[in-house]
Amino acid sequence: MVASEVRALFAVASRPEIVSLAGGMPHVDGLPLETLGELMAELTRERGGTALQYGSAQGDPGLRESVCGVMSLEGIDAHPDDVVVTVGSQQALDLVARVFLDPGDTVVTEGPTYVTALGVFAACQARVAQVAMDEEGVDPGALAETFGRLAAEGRPAKLFYTVPTFQNPAGVTLSAERRAAVSEVCRRAGVLVIEDNPYGLLHYDRGEPMRALRADDPTGVVYLGSFSKTLAPGLRVGWALAPGPVRDKLVLAAESAMLSHSVFSQLVVDRYLRTQPWAEQLKEFRELYRERRDAMLRSLEAHMPRGVRWTSPGGGFFVWASLPEGLDSKALLPRAVGARVAYVPGTGFYADGGGRSHMRLSFCYPPIERIEEGVQRLASVIGEELTL
Ligand code: PMP
Repeated sequence: MVASEVRALFAVASRPEIVSLAGGMPHVDGLPLETLGELMAELTRERGGTALQYGSAQGDPGLRESVCGVMSLEGIDAHPDDVVVTVGSQQALDLVARVFLDPGDTVVTEGPTYVTALGVFAACQARVAQVAMDEEGVDPGALAETFGRLAAEGRPAKLFYTVPTFQNPAGVTLSAERRAAVSEVCRRAGVLVIEDNPYGLLHYDRGEPMRALRADDPTGVVYLGSFSKTLAPGLRVGWALAPGPVRDKLVLAAESAMLSHSVFSQLVVDRYLRTQPWAEQLKEFRELYRERRDAMLRSLEAHMPRGVRWTSPGGGFFVWASLPEGLDSKALLPRAVGARVAYVPGTGFYADGGGRSHMRLSFCYPPIERIEEGVQRLASVIGEELTL
């Protein structure tokens, strides 16, 4: 295992003079902290004997029921018995990988893909094959071709890991038209889909969330969800929704990994969902992030030199920028940090070291003026590099 590029960057990017377009930290200051504090005190007083005790490895039944309500917003009709609560969706991914992957197995992902998913697959000594995306996500034809090639090489794909909605890092979304085709390609190839969807409810341009892949494919998809972006990552509450036989294995894997999760965190989330106006909170988050996204896109448009391209995300936290031929985002980073702006170079999101001419820019954390300042600084650095 090697340290991820994002982790290594955090120390630099957290210096106050630097505008960090690197991390993906949600805006927890926007939460009703007073209310949450009262809710936690109430929970301890009223149910401390349960909340501070060990719990089951599958997770609290009340929370699992609430989670089904959350998933119904994306068209998923699920039973609480099929939900396994996890320590963020990161643990859900880790458990799925432990259950399915032996050393040498092959996982197919989007290219680029979520950096810490690559870390999980590397820890299982799996091999990763990546399929390029365009503005509508992966192309089902290219995915089928990759599955066919891998099978012909004698290493058929075991899993297809996808972040279909507001992808991290690319900010693109698998179009409604392609969703059925992607599921069909995976079904035909006998490949289980891992749908990782922490950003689905943070949509900025549409009235309704995208319909999840899992909504139309209950047996071929393991769905991973999280409250990290829609409530608070510090609570570390996520989940997996899996077909029965897979769910049983995930519970066993969770048991050996950690006995039980924080019952306290689970009950806080459950109580919050049942007693507070979460839908309103989500609306506020959407408005806040939409403004930040707009500010980033406006600044990119206003300041970036010709030849730089970027995606236009309909939700989530990230824009993916592509530099003109010959520029290397990793080599450029020390100069950008010198100019007091940080980003994540594209190479961390590829298993094979590709992505040198790309960078991830996140708009979730800095306030609007800082985003504008950061993009301007970055544009100057790139402009100078182009004239060298
Ligand atoms: N998947 C994706 C695509 C993510 O962006 C993140 C958070 N950065 C996670 C999973 C993990 O989130 P958590 O464990 O906080 O739920």
